[in-house]
Amino acid sequence: MIPVTRPYLPARARLERYLDSIYNSHCLTNNGPLTQQLGERLAEYLDVEHLLLVGNGTLALQIAYRALGVSGPTAEEGWNAVTTPFSFVATTSSLKWDGGKPAFADIDPDTWCVDAHRVVEAISPCSRALVPVHVFGNACNVEHLEAIAARNGLPVIYDGAHAFGVRYKGKSLLRRGDATTLSFHATKIFHCIEGGAIIFRCREDLETARLMTQFGTLQRDRIDAVGINAKLNEFQAAMGLCILDEIDTVLTQRADIWERYRTQLTDWVRLQVWNPKATQNHAYFPIVFESEAVLLQVLTALGARGIEARRYFYPSLDDVACLSPAQVHHKGKQQSNAQSLASRILCLPIYPGLTSQQVDVICETVKESLGHVGIAFGMPGCTKGEDQCRTKPSPN
Ligand SMILES: *Cc1c(COP(=O)(O)O)cnc(C)c1O
Repeated sequence: MIPVTRPYLPARARLERYLDSIYNSHCLTNNGPLTQQLGERLAEYLDVEHLLLVGNGTLALQIAYRALGVSGPTAEEGWNAVTTPFSFVATTSSLKWDGGKPAFADIDPDTWCVDAHRVVEAISPCSRALVPVHVFGNACNVEHLEAIAARNGLPVIYDGAHAFGVRYKGKSLLRRGDATTLSFHATKIFHCIEGGAIIFRCREDLETARLMTQFGTLQRDRIDAVGINAKLNEFQAAMGLCILDEIDTVLTQRADIWERYRTQLTDWVRLQVWNPKATQNHAYFPIVFESEAVLLQVLTALGARGIEARRYFYPSLDDVACLSPAQVHHKGKQQSNAQSLASRILCLPIYPGLTSQQVDVICETVKESLGHVGIAFGMPGCTKGEDQCRTKPSPN
């Protein structure tokens, strides 16, 4: 059985050294020495300022909304945030949980990030923020989105859960916007078992958020705000520190696997068009087929060989009634780009430890089942126009 992902575990001896320090300090949580060390080392590694560690990536979004005044006591009934329907459910459910509505703006069919032109159309007097996603680590059209936000007086909170380490025009992508959130869940490139972070543009917002994550009380005998518990603990920080020690190996192994897939599959499936000004972190290997029927055929063939590929992200969030009943497209209506993509996309296994031979078997299986249905994007005989068959560089 080849899983779609396998959480990375660092060298055990290394972890034990960090655990020894916890046994010595008896400090288990509450921004202890390992948590502080992790915060400092991550800020340095990611080349960012104003980084706050939190318990997970969903809390990171929720605390960011609060700290920037998007949600919370000052937010009017019926507020919304303009966001993408093509993401993990937490991007939208975190808004709903805090009383907001998603105002979905459709995605660009090539980059799979939210389309800035659709964002303009989705903004209404009820809009309080933009919440774009750097989907699969691909940088959004940040300049365009930030100009739109500035024109409308809205903060930008990027869900950067996939964008660990990505650089844009020579600087960390995570510096963009009023805040960028990260997830350090076990399945992400870098993890703390569960964990997350928010990177704020302004120090004051970070301080507001820090107070919120610790019950609104940072000093003894003082309660300064209504807060919640969004802390990371020392065992999580120990895991994070170990993985940060080994991060170069993790990234190299992922890049090798990614490239091996790309070489073998590029003529057979459609791939994400990468932002040309951004680096890649090889967090996922998503492939797109011509139709859902073809996808299901490939999925069955992979399953028969014990290979777990995952439909990710599926369903498209604008197809989920509990998230946005008003916006769910009904039969007969034209599909959104997000719905169309969601129905045809599959993520292939990628994790350190996946062998070259396994990658080759996966590629062979994909190609064989595509051979049976006789469909391959970009191959001779493709009935679509040449430019539709091949990935083309994005215009930004
Ligand atoms: C993983 C993920 C989250 C949620 O992070 P958790 O740490 O699991 O709470 C949010 N958004 C996106 C895009 C994600 O992939």
